[in-house]
Amino acid sequence: MRRLEAYIRNIPDFPEPGIQFKDITPLVKEPAMLRLAVNQLVYPFLGTNITAVAGMEARGFIFGSLAAWELGVGFVPLRKPGKLPYDVQSLSYDLEYGSASLEIHNDALHEGDRVLLIDDLIATGGTAAASCALVEKLGAEVAACAFVVELDFLKGRDKLEKYNIHS
Ligand code: AMP
Repeated sequence: MRRLEAYIRNIPDFPEPGIQFKDITPLVKEPAMLRLAVNQLVYPFLGTNITAVAGMEARGFIFGSLAAWELGVGFVPLRKPGKLPYDVQSLSYDLEYGSASLEIHNDALHEGDRVLLIDDLIATGGTAAASCALVEKLGAEVAACAFVVELDFLKGRDKLEKYNIHS
Protein backbone atom coordinates (compact mmCIF):
# COMPACT_ATOMS: atom_id res chain seq x y z
CA MET A 1 0.00 0.00 0.00
CA ARG A 2 2.82 2.38 0.87
CA ARG A 3 4.40 1.71 -2.53
CA LEU A 4 1.18 2.78 -4.26
CA GLU A 5 0.65 5.76 -1.98
CA ALA A 6 4.01 7.18 -3.06
CA TYR A 7 2.63 7.49 -6.61
CA ILE A 8 -0.56 9.35 -5.63
CA ARG A 9 0.01 13.09 -5.83
CA ASN A 10 -1.79 15.36 -3.35
CA ILE A 11 -2.96 18.62 -4.90
CA PRO A 12 -4.19 21.14 -2.31
CA ASP A 13 -7.22 23.32 -3.05
CA PHE A 14 -8.24 21.55 -6.28
CA PRO A 15 -10.80 21.81 -7.81
CA GLU A 16 -11.85 24.22 -5.05
CA PRO A 17 -10.46 25.60 -1.79
CA GLY A 18 -10.36 23.08 1.05
CA ILE A 19 -10.31 19.97 -1.16
CA GLN A 20 -7.12 17.92 -1.33
CA PHE A 21 -7.25 16.20 -4.70
CA LYS A 22 -5.75 12.71 -4.98
CA ASP A 23 -4.12 12.69 -8.42
CA ILE A 24 -3.66 9.13 -9.68
CA THR A 25 -1.97 10.08 -12.98
CA PRO A 26 1.59 9.44 -11.66
CA LEU A 27 0.43 5.96 -10.59
CA VAL A 28 -1.20 4.98 -13.89
CA LYS A 29 1.84 6.24 -15.83
CA GLU A 30 4.14 3.78 -14.03
CA PRO A 31 3.73 0.26 -15.47
CA ALA A 32 4.64 -1.64 -12.27
CA MET A 33 2.38 0.52 -10.11
CA LEU A 34 -0.54 0.29 -12.54
CA ARG A 35 -0.23 -3.49 -12.49
CA LEU A 36 0.07 -3.56 -8.68
CA ALA A 37 -3.00 -1.33 -8.25
CA VAL A 38 -5.14 -3.41 -10.61
CA ASN A 39 -3.99 -6.68 -9.03
CA GLN A 40 -4.83 -5.33 -5.57
CA LEU A 41 -8.26 -4.20 -6.81
CA VAL A 42 -9.30 -7.54 -8.27
CA TYR A 43 -7.60 -10.27 -6.19
CA PRO A 44 -10.53 -10.75 -3.75
CA PHE A 45 -12.87 -11.32 -6.70
CA LEU A 46 -10.94 -13.91 -8.71
CA GLY A 47 -13.10 -17.01 -8.97
CA THR A 48 -16.20 -15.33 -7.47
CA ASN A 49 -18.39 -15.45 -10.59
CA ILE A 50 -18.32 -11.74 -11.36
CA THR A 51 -20.06 -11.35 -14.74
CA ALA A 52 -19.30 -7.66 -15.44
CA VAL A 53 -17.31 -4.68 -14.20
CA ALA A 54 -19.01 -1.26 -14.14
CA GLY A 55 -16.88 1.89 -13.85
CA MET A 56 -17.74 5.52 -13.19
CA GLU A 57 -16.69 8.31 -15.53
CA ALA A 58 -13.92 9.15 -15.90
CA ARG A 59 -11.14 7.67 -13.77
CA GLY A 60 -13.26 4.61 -13.06
CA PHE A 61 -12.88 3.79 -16.76
CA ILE A 62 -9.11 3.42 -16.40
CA PHE A 63 -9.15 0.96 -13.49
CA GLY A 64 -12.50 -0.60 -14.41
CA SER A 65 -11.43 -1.61 -17.91
CA LEU A 66 -8.21 -3.18 -16.65
CA ALA A 67 -10.06 -4.95 -13.84
CA ALA A 68 -12.56 -6.33 -16.38
CA TRP A 69 -9.65 -7.57 -18.49
CA GLU A 70 -8.06 -9.29 -15.48
CA LEU A 71 -11.35 -10.94 -14.48
CA GLY A 72 -12.12 -11.97 -18.06
CA VAL A 73 -15.45 -10.12 -18.17
CA GLY A 74 -16.86 -7.12 -20.04
CA PHE A 75 -16.90 -3.46 -18.99
CA VAL A 76 -19.98 -1.23 -18.55
CA PRO A 77 -19.52 2.56 -18.44
CA LEU A 78 -21.52 4.73 -16.04
CA ARG A 79 -21.52 8.20 -17.57
CA LYS A 80 -22.44 11.79 -16.93
CA PRO A 81 -25.76 12.91 -18.46
CA GLY A 82 -26.04 13.20 -22.23
CA LYS A 83 -22.96 11.13 -23.08
CA LEU A 84 -24.47 7.69 -23.72
CA PRO A 85 -26.10 7.47 -27.17
CA TYR A 86 -28.70 4.70 -26.62
CA ASP A 87 -31.68 4.41 -24.21
CA VAL A 88 -30.57 5.05 -20.62
CA GLN A 89 -31.57 4.80 -17.00
CA SER A 90 -30.63 7.92 -15.00
CA LEU A 91 -30.18 8.65 -11.35
CA SER A 92 -29.59 11.97 -9.58
CA TYR A 93 -27.77 12.15 -6.28
CA ASP A 94 -26.70 14.84 -3.82
CA LEU A 95 -23.16 16.15 -3.64
CA GLU A 96 -21.75 18.19 -0.77
CA TYR A 97 -22.91 21.23 -2.74
CA GLY A 98 -25.59 20.74 -5.41
CA SER A 99 -26.33 17.50 -7.21
CA ALA A 100 -25.09 15.27 -10.04
CA SER A 101 -26.46 12.49 -12.25
CA LEU A 102 -25.18 9.27 -13.73
CA GLU A 103 -26.55 7.21 -16.62
CA ILE A 104 -26.26 3.62 -17.80
CA HIS A 105 -27.44 2.00 -21.01
CA ASN A 106 -30.73 0.16 -20.50
CA ASP A 107 -29.44 -3.08 -21.95
CA ALA A 108 -25.98 -2.98 -20.30
CA LEU A 109 -26.82 -5.41 -17.47
CA HIS A 110 -29.53 -7.93 -16.72
CA GLU A 111 -30.99 -10.04 -13.95
CA GLY A 112 -28.42 -12.69 -13.05
CA ASP A 113 -25.43 -10.37 -13.58
CA ARG A 114 -23.03 -10.08 -10.62
CA VAL A 115 -21.36 -6.72 -10.97
CA LEU A 116 -18.08 -5.42 -9.56
CA LEU A 117 -18.30 -1.63 -9.38
CA ILE A 118 -15.00 0.25 -9.68
CA ASP A 119 -13.89 3.84 -9.20
CA ASP A 120 -10.52 5.43 -8.46
CA LEU A 121 -11.65 6.91 -5.15
CA ILE A 122 -14.44 6.85 -2.59
CA ALA A 123 -15.00 10.10 -0.69
CA THR A 124 -18.53 10.65 0.71
CA GLY A 125 -19.82 7.54 -1.07
CA GLY A 126 -22.59 9.38 -2.93
CA THR A 127 -21.29 8.49 -6.39
CA ALA A 128 -20.88 4.83 -5.48
CA ALA A 129 -24.32 4.62 -3.83
CA ALA A 130 -25.97 6.09 -6.94
CA SER A 131 -24.00 3.70 -9.15
CA CYS A 132 -25.13 0.70 -7.09
CA ALA A 133 -28.73 1.88 -7.38
CA LEU A 134 -28.40 2.17 -11.19
CA VAL A 135 -27.00 -1.35 -11.46
CA GLU A 136 -29.89 -2.63 -9.36
CA LYS A 137 -32.42 -0.68 -11.47
CA LEU A 138 -31.46 -2.98 -14.34
CA GLY A 139 -32.11 -6.06 -12.19
CA ALA A 140 -28.42 -6.93 -11.69
CA GLU A 141 -26.69 -7.62 -8.36
CA VAL A 142 -23.84 -5.51 -6.93
CA ALA A 143 -21.36 -8.19 -5.88
CA ALA A 144 -18.92 -5.59 -4.48
CA CYS A 145 -17.47 -2.11 -4.90
CA ALA A 146 -13.71 -1.60 -5.19
CA PHE A 147 -11.62 1.59 -5.04
CA VAL A 148 -7.93 2.37 -5.32
CA VAL A 149 -8.20 5.17 -2.73
CA GLU A 150 -10.55 5.46 0.25
CA LEU A 151 -10.80 8.76 2.14
CA ASP A 152 -11.89 6.96 5.28
CA PHE A 153 -12.40 10.14 7.34
CA LEU A 154 -15.39 10.94 5.09
CA LYS A 155 -17.05 7.65 6.08
CA GLY A 156 -18.30 6.82 2.58
CA ARG A 157 -18.74 3.21 3.68
CA ASP A 158 -21.63 4.29 5.88
CA LYS A 159 -23.66 5.03 2.71
CA LEU A 160 -22.84 1.56 1.36
CA GLU A 161 -23.52 -0.54 4.43
CA LYS A 162 -25.37 -3.28 2.55
CA TYR A 163 -22.53 -3.80 0.06
CA ASN A 164 -19.17 -5.52 0.15
CA ILE A 165 -16.52 -2.76 -0.04
CA HIS A 166 -12.85 -3.24 -0.93
CA SER A 167 -10.20 -0.50 -1.12
P1 AMP B 1 -18.00 10.80 -3.53
O1 AMP B 1 -19.27 10.69 -4.31
O2 AMP B 1 -18.01 11.94 -2.55
O3 AMP B 1 -17.59 9.49 -2.89
O4 AMP B 1 -16.85 11.21 -4.55
C1 AMP B 1 -16.26 10.24 -5.35
C2 AMP B 1 -16.02 10.72 -6.75
O5 AMP B 1 -15.46 12.02 -6.79
C3 AMP B 1 -15.02 9.81 -7.43
O6 AMP B 1 -15.42 9.64 -8.79
C4 AMP B 1 -13.70 10.53 -7.30
O7 AMP B 1 -12.93 10.38 -8.46
C5 AMP B 1 -14.08 12.00 -7.08
N1 AMP B 1 -13.39 12.59 -5.92
C6 AMP B 1 -13.97 13.02 -4.78
N2 AMP B 1 -13.08 13.52 -3.92
C7 AMP B 1 -11.88 13.43 -4.53
C8 AMP B 1 -10.53 13.78 -4.13
N3 AMP B 1 -10.25 14.33 -2.95
N4 AMP B 1 -9.54 13.50 -5.01
C9 AMP B 1 -9.80 12.93 -6.21
N5 AMP B 1 -11.04 12.60 -6.62
C10 AMP B 1 -12.08 12.83 -5.80
